[in-house]
Amino acid sequence: MTPLYVARPLLPSRADLDILLDEIWASRWVTNEGPLHNRLEAALSRRLGVPVARLFSSGTSALQCAMLALDLPPGAEVITTPLTFPATAHAISACGLKPVFADIDPDTLTLDPRAVARAITPRTAAVIGVHVYGTICNDAALQALCSQHGLRLLYDAAHAFAAEKAGVSTAAMGDLSVFSMHATKLFNTIEGGLVTSRDPALSERLQLARNFGIASEEQVKSVGINGKMSELHAAIGLLNLDAFEHERDLRRDLRARYDAIVATFPGLIPQARQGDVVRSEQYYMLRVDPEIFGASRDDVYDRLKQRDIHARRYFWPICTDYDSYRGAPVASLQPVPVVERVKTTLLCLPFHSGVQPDHVQIIGDVLTDLSASRPAIP
Ligand SMILES: *Cc1c(COP(=O)(O)O)cnc(C)c1O
Repeated sequence: MTPLYVARPLLPSRADLDILLDEIWASRWVTNEGPLHNRLEAALSRRLGVPVARLFSSGTSALQCAMLALDLPPGAEVITTPLTFPATAHAISACGLKPVFADIDPDTLTLDPRAVARAITPRTAAVIGVHVYGTICNDAALQALCSQHGLRLLYDAAHAFAAEKAGVSTAAMGDLSVFSMHATKLFNTIEGGLVTSRDPALSERLQLARNFGIASEEQVKSVGINGKMSELHAAIGLLNLDAFEHERDLRRDLRARYDAIVATFPGLIPQARQGDVVRSEQYYMLRVDPEIFGASRDDVYDRLKQRDIHARRYFWPICTDYDSYRGAPVASLQPVPVVERVKTTLLCLPFHSGVQPDHVQIIGDVLTDLSASRPAIP
């Protein structure tokens, strides 16, 4: 069997892509907000139901441009979760701001609004919630807290494309939401990013931020970077936008199959089930409680790897384990933050339409093997 990885990029057919590449070659308009780029922005704005949908070269450049567009004061503190991909915290630092970490909710593993409240200081300017694994943040509580303290609320929605909670799209939460369209994400443009907002006033600021702050031939208006998406990436996006729902349906079936297996093992805890949501189906995350399951997360990871099934220990290490932020405090309601207790239990299984019944069988066998190796209770 070929190796199985946690993600597999959704790719359009070469024939469909060729038609769009012919358009690009005919016009020689290859980047700088070209026709395909603009078509994709319009399509995303329609699909996600928000007036503002701006494309970027990556999720990371989108995060940076989102903060530039909000014009946060230099050196201000931005509160976020330590349980995320490095890009969230690093984008804050790269913008000359200071990441401050707050603990996660023990059930959803998303930013705990009560922990955020403890992390707020007079220097706090913004909060970035992360819909980690596609589990949607407690938006109502975060929004209430941010409104009360005059803070901006951003979401890193890299795991939550086209997801909804109580009929509200993740694209319409907070001041703005940032998506990644990296190859590993459900909807991808190979490399790419997106910022969405309900606030039309942010549209121009986002555009300036991704294009060096250039307002016209004669005016450079604000600090900006090169965060633009090329026509080639936009072409992939236009085609994948028609295809991702089918991929998501296949992942829903896979989730049900994984759930059925996980439910048979005490000590394996599935991802939080949220009511009234449309799931992004970005990741299948489970927690391994070694005391009850009889083997550790790393045991499961190693044993799967021996069978060429490459799960990922997302997100471990957490941000406060990185050299850049080591020793930074995590504001928490507990003496030991929840995130410290769960970080060694998290495992993301391969989750895409390339996962075959044979793979699922092997994963089930590995779990059975490991749990059976647990010493009998006297
Ligand atoms: C993928 C990801 C990013 C970064 O996106 P890139 O497109 O790779 O720059 C940011 N945050 C989270 C949570 C991610 O998973």
